[in-house]
Amino acid sequence: MGRHVADQAQEYDFFPAHVVHTRRLGPTMLRVTFGGPALAGFAGGGRDQSFSLFLPQPGQAEPNLPYGEGEGWFHAWRALPERERAVMRSYTVRAQRTSPPELDVDFALHGTGTGSPAPGTGTDPADRSPAGPAARWAAEAGPGARVVLLGPVVADNRSVGFRPPADADFVLLAADETALPAVGGILDWLPAGTRALVWIEVPDAADAQELGGADGVDGVDVVWLVREPGRPSGLLAALRAAELPAGAPYAWLAGESGTVRELRRHLVGERGLDRRAVAFTGYWRRGASEDRLRAEAYGETS
Ligand SMILES: Cc1cc2nc3c(=O)[nH]c(=O)nc-3n(C[C@H](O)[C@H](O)[C@H](O)COP(=O)(O)OP(=O)(O)OC[C@H]3O[C@@H](n4cnc5c(N)ncnc54)[C@H](O)[C@@H]3O)c2cc1C
Repeated sequence: MGRHVADQAQEYDFFPAHVVHTRRLGPTMLRVTFGGPALAGFAGGGRDQSFSLFLPQPGQAEPNLPYGEGEGWFHAWRALPERERAVMRSYTVRAQRTSPPELDVDFALHGTGTGSPAPGTGTDPADRSPAGPAARWAAEAGPGARVVLLGPVVADNRSVGFRPPADADFVLLAADETALPAVGGILDWLPAGTRALVWIEVPDAADAQELGGADGVDGVDVVWLVREPGRPSGLLAALRAAELPAGAPYAWLAGESGTVRELRRHLVGERGLDRRAVAFTGYWRRGASEDRLRAEAYGETS
């Protein structure tokens, strides 16, 4: 059970939780396992289920989050000084277990200086990006660290974006490392026998993972791309060069927002896909923090 009703539609609630343990998945990716009795009420819908994660500021023991009825919490949170209020960031449920209640969340460690050197280069690809408070928090997180999740209390909720129509002939996924956890969740969920073509771009070849679920099953092809340091994404070129099977695809695109926009333009404009069959989400934007994106969404200029 969460703490207070956080959403008038009653789809979401706050879930206080703590870090159980962390595990390195690759040079630039870290899995954080969250636990705590409240998470028993977190009704994840699988696939690309996302949620808002609230983190303490450096020096705080827990996130400073004014709970409130309905949407009131958001205005109360925004009214707090920026350096005192909890850091709020979007993340994906990579996996969920019930006994004990636990959630796995995979963090891209951009700019944290904690990665391992890429083979042959002596430098860490994660170091070449700007850092952010969430990536920094994850890099240093240890057992017992306290957080709050704002997540679903019903499994069929608005934060699940992967919704292929029943008559899709195949699925096309394109993602960067921030959307790799969502791709993992989608492949775990896909019915056996689904034809799926998957492109995933990561900063380091050693960030490629065994994805489980449909990965490795007949009909699912996963292509791993490694982003050249300081170079634009290679996802568009890879998709352009791909020969797609006949039939009606359902495409799901997520990652850096400029790249996602280009991918969508290619699929709809150049390949003629029905725009309703292309789900796309910018997970981050080069040069802008999530706070900045939220301020823009609310019509502020700061
Ligand atoms: C629905 C949704 C689900 C998401 N799920 C995940 C997830 O499961 N795992 C995950 O790691 N991320 C995920 N993200 C992306 C994550 O929210 C952003 O990367 C976020 O900006 C990280 O916060 P931060 O505090 O580390 O950086 P911010 O303070 O937001 O940004 C600081 C700077 O870092 C840059 N930046 C942000 N992310 C990256 C990056 N990956 N590489 C290089 N530079 C970057 C920004 O452009 C900015 O210049 C998700 C986003 C959305 C919208």
